[in-house]
Amino acid sequence: MAKFLLFIALLAVVYALVRASRRRGKPPPQAHKPEAMTQCAHCGVHFPSAESLSEGERDYCCEDHRRLGVRS
Ligand SMILES: [Zn+2]
Repeated sequence: MAKFLLFIALLAVVYALVRASRRRGKPPPQAHKPEAMTQCAHCGVHFPSAESLSEGERDYCCEDHRRLGVRS
């Protein structure tokens, strides 16, 4: 009986180690990374700068606003 309990304990330890190593191997989730925000120079909406369309030093939320912003 003692051997059986030892076997169960060993399995639990191996399982915990495998879980821990898997967690460590995964890259950190992107959603929790703080994103740089920027503002559309045409409509003023705030959005992630990664999605911005830049024209000179100005950022725009979409192609239409970039065109409208350049024209005015
Ligand atoms: Zn806009």
